[in-house]
Amino acid sequence: MFRVTEEVRFCYGHRLLDYEGPCARIHGHNARVAIELSAPTLDRKGFVADFFDIEKAGKDWILAQFDHRLILREDDPVIPFLKQAGEAFVTLPVNPSAENFAKLIFDHLRAHGAPVTAVSFYETDTAVATYEDR
Ligand SMILES: [Zn+2]
Repeated sequence: MFRVTEEVRFCYGHRLLDYEGPCARIHGHNARVAIELSAPTLDRKGFVADFFDIEKAGKDWILAQFDHRLILREDDPVIPFLKQAGEAFVTLPVNPSAENFAKLIFDHLRAHGAPVTAVSFYETDTAVATYEDR
C-alpha cells in the first residue's frame, strides 16, 4: 500500500459547549491538519493522488472555510451577540472539537473522490485527533 500525506496549517478561534475546561472559553489555536491518502497501486503519473487535486479539495477548502475564522456550534448562545456586532463566524452542527474537525475534513475529501484514509487534526503540537477508515 502506498501512502502520502498532505499538511495544511491554519489559525482559528472556537469554544466547546457542554464542556468544563479551558476550551469552554472563546480562544484560538494554530492548527495543523495531516491528510493521509492511500492506494494499493499508483496511477499512470506514479502518484497515489495528484497533490494539485488534493490541494484544491483539501487545503484550499480548509483555508476558505476555517482560516482566521471563529467556529462555533450552531446553538452557541454568543451567536446573537456576534450577529448584532456584525462579526463574522462559522457554525457547525457539532462542537468544533479536533475530533469533529478531523471527521468533517475526512468526509469532505471522500465526497470529492479523494482516496483519503486518515485525517489527523493537531489542535496543538501535543494534542491530535484522528479520524480514519483503513
Ligand atoms: Zn480549543
